[in-house]
Parts: sequence; structure tokens; C-alpha cells
Amino acid sequence: CSGFALFRAELGRAAWKLFHTIMARFPDKPSKDESTALEAYIHLFARLYPCGECAGHFRQILDRYPPQTSSRSSAAAWACHVHNVVNKSLKKPDFDCSKIGDFYKCGCADEDEGSTK
Ligand code: FAD
Repeated sequence: CSGFALFRAELGRAAWKLFHTIMARFPDKPSKDESTALEAYIHLFARLYPCGECAGHFRQILDRYPPQTSSRSSAAAWACHVHNVVNKSLKKPDFDCSKIGDFYKCGCADEDEGSTK
């Protein structure tokens, strides 16, 4: 495994962890401003992600599956789906998205507040 491949895998694991944890902490009932912020974040993430090839692939996935930001559950389900699209292209197993809620609980004190602050 080359150094670049290792870097890409480690970056990917860290990035996915952050990505899914952001979705898991997104409000159940976001304001319009919060939904717009998440959508902008996702598009900027896809633009600035520091693996050019990955970012290019991900932007194509976003064109096909636009971000869903109307609630925590729709954002989390959407993120799980697009990660599965990447998994498929890399011949990795499908993740069971019905388990997403428990998987990315952060254990934060304010976890149940549904706050992004
Ligand atoms: P990862 O895919 O990194 O997943 C980490 C953990 O998340 C898994 O162990 C599992 O517990 C959990 N998980 C798995 N699937 C899901 C899911 N659907 N929903 C929620 N949780 C899940 N690599 C390339 O070689 N080429 C690319 O084009 C490429 N594009 C990428 C695009 C993006 C936006 C990102 C963030 C990463 C990309 N990567 C790409 C990296 C790749 O997706 C993996 O992160 C890397 O190969 C390491 O894989 P892994 O098997 O450790 O698990």
C-alpha cells in the first residue's frame, strides 16, 4: 500500500467520522438558516476535500443525490446513502443505514438538545 493510499484511507476515515457526526448532531427541526448552512457546508466540503480525485467523484455524487437538509434524520440517511455510493465504487460492503442513529452518538453532554451550537 503506497503512502498516498494510506493517507487517502486515513483522511477518508477521519472525514467520514466528522461528516456523519455532524449529521447526527444536526437539529431534528432545523431553521431555514441551519438547513442552508448544512447544504453550503456539504458543497464546500466536496469542493475543498484534500484528495482531488475523491472530491471530483464526490461532486458527481452530489449532482446525482443532492444534499437532504430538512431534518436530522433525512440528513443522516442521505449521508449514509452517499457514503454507500462511495463504498460501492471502492468495492466495500454496504453499511446498514437503519443503524446510523446509534452508530454516531457522540456521548456529548448536550447530545439530546439537537443543537449545533
Ligand atoms: P470508511 O469508508 O472510511 O468508513 C469508516 C467507517 O464508517 C467504517 O469502518 C464504518 O464503520 C462506517 N461506515 C461505512 N459505511 C458507512 C455508511 N454508508 N454510513 C455511515 N457509516 C459508514 N477513496 C478512494 O480510494 N477513492 C475515492 O474516490 C474516494 N472518495 C472519497 C470521497 C469522500 C467524500 C470521502 C470522505 C472519502 C473518499 N475516499 C476515497 C476514502 C474512502 O471512502 C475510505 O474512507 C477509505 O478507503 C478508508 O475506508 P475504510 O474501509 O476504512 O472505511
